[in-house]
Amino acid sequence: MAKPFVDVLVPVALDQAYSYRVPAEFDLAPGDIVSVPLGAREAVGVVWADDVTVRPGLHNRIKDVELKLDYPPLKPELRKFVDWVSGYTLSPRGMVLRMCLRMGDLGPAREKIGVRIAGSQPKRVTAARTRVLQILADGLVRTKSEAAHEAGVSAGVINGLIDDGVLETLVLPPEPVARKPDPDYAVPEFTDAQRKASDALRTSVDMSGFSVTLVDGVTGSGKTEVYFEAVAQAIRHNKQVLILMPEIALTAQFLDRFAERFGVRPAEWHSELAPRKRARTWTAVAAGDVSVVVGARSALFLPYADLGLIIVDEEHDPAYKQEDGVRYHARDMAVVRAREVKIPIVLASATPSVETVVNARRGRYAHLKLPERFGGQHLPSVEAIDLRREGPPRGRFISPRLAEQVKFAIERGEQALLFLNRRGFAPLTLCNACGHRMACPNCDAWLVDHRFKRRLVCHHCGYSMPPPEQCPKCEAKGSFVAVGPGVERLEQEAAELFPGARILVLSSDLVESMERLRQELDDVAQGRFDIVIGTQLVAKGHHFPKLNLVGIVDADLGLANGDPRAVERTFQLLHQVVGRAGREAGRGYGFLQTHQPDHPVMRALIAQDREAFYSAEIEVREKTSYPPFGRLASLLISGADKHATEAHARKIAAVAPIHDEVRVLGPAEAPLAVVRGRHRFRLLVKSPRGFDLSAYLREWMAAVPKAKGTLKLEVDVDPQSFF
Ligand code: ADP
Ligand code: ZN
Repeated sequence: MAKPFVDVLVPVALDQAYSYRVPAEFDLAPGDIVSVPLGAREAVGVVWADDVTVRPGLHNRIKDVELKLDYPPLKPELRKFVDWVSGYTLSPRGMVLRMCLRMGDLGPAREKIGVRIAGSQPKRVTAARTRVLQILADGLVRTKSEAAHEAGVSAGVINGLIDDGVLETLVLPPEPVARKPDPDYAVPEFTDAQRKASDALRTSVDMSGFSVTLVDGVTGSGKTEVYFEAVAQAIRHNKQVLILMPEIALTAQFLDRFAERFGVRPAEWHSELAPRKRARTWTAVAAGDVSVVVGARSALFLPYADLGLIIVDEEHDPAYKQEDGVRYHARDMAVVRAREVKIPIVLASATPSVETVVNARRGRYAHLKLPERFGGQHLPSVEAIDLRREGPPRGRFISPRLAEQVKFAIERGEQALLFLNRRGFAPLTLCNACGHRMACPNCDAWLVDHRFKRRLVCHHCGYSMPPPEQCPKCEAKGSFVAVGPGVERLEQEAAELFPGARILVLSSDLVESMERLRQELDDVAQGRFDIVIGTQLVAKGHHFPKLNLVGIVDADLGLANGDPRAVERTFQLLHQVVGRAGREAGRGYGFLQTHQPDHPVMRALIAQDREAFYSAEIEVREKTSYPPFGRLASLLISGADKHATEAHARKIAAVAPIHDEVRVLGPAEAPLAVVRGRHRFRLLVKSPRGFDLSAYLREWMAAVPKAKGTLKLEVDVDPQSFF
């Protein structure tokens, strides 16, 4: 019997599902997607419960469900996942649901019209008309524009033939979002190590059930080829596969790579999909019409009809953490989703996160190793350039030894990459006369000089201004000097050092479109540039056959962030960047410009002793009870007024539940004390591993006084960023 009331969860910042009356004409069940009145507007929501009782006194206040929408219902596994993520991250359930309902709007269908020969003789015969008829003589249907294009005639010729009844039109069925990949399209010949790994993955797919496997292989060892075997096997079992990538830029490149192996491109999912494509993809995923989705972290929340495998590529990448709205780590939540759905998940990386390595060492994750590069290529040899002894001249950033090596590489017809993780021309602009530094009016940060754009820009809030003609403090004219390097400044230096070299700067702020970036990456791969100067945009995934030399301009840069993961991040980033070198022909070389050649990170990179690095880092984490040996949560309290913000932070700290296993540190001013005009204070919560930190935080939040005015509290469980 149909239930009179249901609870509907709507995609807004609420934890609670609201009760609605079910009109007699629909029969609703949990998971059904409905339209309901919400205040003055209509909202799309999901039936969360149907065993709802409403006190008789409230009956006449309950509104009706407006419509049952024509989408497949959200499966119990996805609804459970929403509840789980919300409970873990302390984000309102409605906000987590919102990530599942990004289906956008299909809009009116645009029909494609096809043409074929109808039979009647043309009244008028011309050369153009004859060509069209010759093309269409094979009996195949073509769109009007295809027919015109193939025959080399204008659209008018086709229309004329239609008007004369020589051609007939018909409505073509819409093209599928993605055609079915062929698991046997191009299977590579594997090396022994690769075969062992791919066999193990295939077995985990055959057995189904929850399992986590780390594919841990040096850069260029064939991790992708190997996990493609797991993908192929899932396709053979008619299961859907999700491949997560940390960044959209990588997704775009990956599509062609996938097509080389499987004959067709997979479906893609990320924030830049056009609305109609988004709607069609969402629907096709829900209907089970798409077998493989490649996407950024939001693809984790799609309503898969029959998910059978998840791959998390570059699993260590910090971009998997969403830092606004629902603060979740897509890798961790992917493991949770795999566990809920009882399917295998594969984590791939050349520099796995310390968390994952610890899980592998404990035997909780299967660990497949690919220790060698494919094709017998050696890993690059790495040397330090000690900036204290052989640094560049003043105002320069490329040391003589690095410059010499770059010159040699170009002479050999190879490419060089100069890596500096700093956008713009210079990180600081200083008045030579009075020492005044140009700072952001809204943030506790210096303005970064962007010469290409002729602006000084704040990297935290986006504030920008033209470079001032005179110093705002001492009014000296033309007194400003740039301090420190950014990629744009390196370009200038490289152009002077290597006259005639073809130089490309790759930096996210200079990317005009994904299409353009793909073109530029392709140009590099084809050898159309000699020197690439890049930020972390170039660090990941890309394959540049002619690149044999990598120079790290400032290897110490990341170590200066005093956060618990600074060392790990620096190791991962530098290892990845150096790993771009020597992937195809010739020997790869990496040079680290550093003031601390004896730092454990530099030593591990030079000795190519990854295990030593992990062992040392794991020991530090264990001693200090940092993740994964202890748990962290961060509470960020911000507001327009410094004193009110600090007072509020103290009030919050004062009501923290007392627990002998939990330590609450702070409040302390955040390292970035002001952002967008808001003062920031941080509380850090530390607990033992295995402690239910989310439950503790929920208890705490229930006691926290309501934030008034501009005050705001943000909770971050398992924080990655400590700024
Ligand atoms: P990783 O993901 O570990 O960096 P890839 O899977 O991208 O490595 O492999 C590096 C390069 O070597 C790619 O161009 C890939 O196509 C090639 N490759 C790896 N294994 C094989 C194989 N067994 N047969 C042919 N080419 C391979
Ligand atoms: Zn700012």
